Amino acid sequence: MRLTSFRTRVLLLAIVFSVLLIGTVLITTYFVVSGGMAGVARDTALSLSRQAERLARARVDEVNAQASDEITGTGVAVQQRRKARAQQLFDESLSTVFRSSISDGEFAFYRPSDLTRPTWSTSNRPSTPQDGTDRRRALRDMSSTLTLTGAARNLTGLYSPAELGIYTVHVPIDAPNGSRWVLDTVYQPLREEQTIDAIRAPMLVLAIVGTALAVGMMQMSMGWVLKLVNDLRVAADSIDAGQLDVHLPEEGQHEIADLARSLNHLIDRLRRRSEAQTRFIADASHELATPVAGIRGYVNILRAWGGEDEAVADEAVRAIDRESRRMARLTTELLSLIRSDQDTQRRRVRVDVNTLSREALAAAATRYLDKGLEFVGPDEGQLIVMNDPDKIEEFLHILVDNAAKYTPRGGTVRVETWRRRDKVVVEVSDTGIGIPDKDLPSIFDRFYRSDASRSKETGGFGLGLAIAKRMVEVCGGTIEVRSEVGHGTAFTIRIPRDV
Ligand code: ADP
Repeated sequence: MRLTSFRTRVLLLAIVFSVLLIGTVLITTYFVVSGGMAGVARDTALSLSRQAERLARARVDEVNAQASDEITGTGVAVQQRRKARAQQLFDESLSTVFRSSISDGEFAFYRPSDLTRPTWSTSNRPSTPQDGTDRRRALRDMSSTLTLTGAARNLTGLYSPAELGIYTVHVPIDAPNGSRWVLDTVYQPLREEQTIDAIRAPMLVLAIVGTALAVGMMQMSMGWVLKLVNDLRVAADSIDAGQLDVHLPEEGQHEIADLARSLNHLIDRLRRRSEAQTRFIADASHELATPVAGIRGYVNILRAWGGEDEAVADEAVRAIDRESRRMARLTTELLSLIRSDQDTQRRRVRVDVNTLSREALAAAATRYLDKGLEFVGPDEGQLIVMNDPDKIEEFLHILVDNAAKYTPRGGTVRVETWRRRDKVVVEVSDTGIGIPDKDLPSIFDRFYRSDASRSKETGGFGLGLAIAKRMVEVCGGTIEVRSEVGHGTAFTIRIPRDV
């Protein structure tokens, strides 16, 4: 198990997070439960104290009444005897009254003369605080006070038995003998502590099970993700090995499926490019093979009969010259195409499209002088763009040359230019043979020639329009074609006025 691996890191993170999360939830639960139990204990102590106070007061009233019945008469001495008798009756009845009436809690009475030792208590070893401070305060304020002693910190209950402490309520009571006593009610919340202790074990089990479940689930989903990633890696490896027929599974709407889709698109593009390259090499070799075969054939003819027959020799030399020119043209066009592929930089120069159009027309007019074509160019005047003049010149020459090449004797080749918003539109049209509808979608492909032009043996290789389109694209423009067989063709180019 590598510490740097994705799986290990996620595993560690899962453990840390689940321990933190589950720990927080459980500790909070524990605090809520123990806080609630402490509240219950306090309420129980106060309620017990109220019961004890009621009992004590009722008993004081009873013993006072009984003493008055027993000792009648007036005077200070009689009153003293009556009080003493009432106190005696009160003291005698305490055990019966408190032990039989309230079973929970401990009770004790303190005289003001000694607030640290009880005068009477339900327990032999009372757990009430030895310190008399709180009792003195209860007497002074004439109100009940509550003290809590021996409570452990809330957190310690997480690992050791809970200790909620001892609740003591001090209540001032008027004793039958006329003095003021303090009644202590002591409550030890054992039941509440048991409840807190009882939740500790299940909480621990819950924490362990929760963490194990969280880690397990995390590991499962990690396994699933890593499997998908591994599939992608295998696919990437096979691409590296030159295999382009792989297709990654892209089911689902998750991020890995998105990545697989992107990779599939990339593989498709690579495959198309590789196929195009193979096709290009095959087409180029085929185009070169034809003139080479011609030259070899005529060389053989020359060798065999050239010495004897001057006409044959002459014919063969002319044919070899024609084929070698064709080869030279092909290699020039191929170089130009490769250059156009690599040359993606465009210069930004102030240039007049009208002048370039007129120059292209003039060059074609010279080349096709014998065809008697009419060349019509844009009017005098300028149409300025900020773009790459070399590229504009190149596509104009190709399009005007094609127009002249595919237009029969006496036809017209026209270049029109105009401005449209932030673009300049150039239209090169002719009244030539036109392009069949079925060929229109492919004419910008490399080595594509329509059947009509093949049969006329115009000598093209089908590279001109591919180069022209590339040039237009580098200029940031678009090219479209419309054509009607027998009537003519028009290429419309739109390039930005400023790039
Ligand atoms: P080519 O060197 O064969 O002319 P291009 O790439 O320039 O190659 O043209 C591709 C094909 O498109 C040509 O073979 C021809 O069939 C057709 N084409 C191009 N321009 C014209 C045009 N102005 N009129 C008729 N056909 C054309």
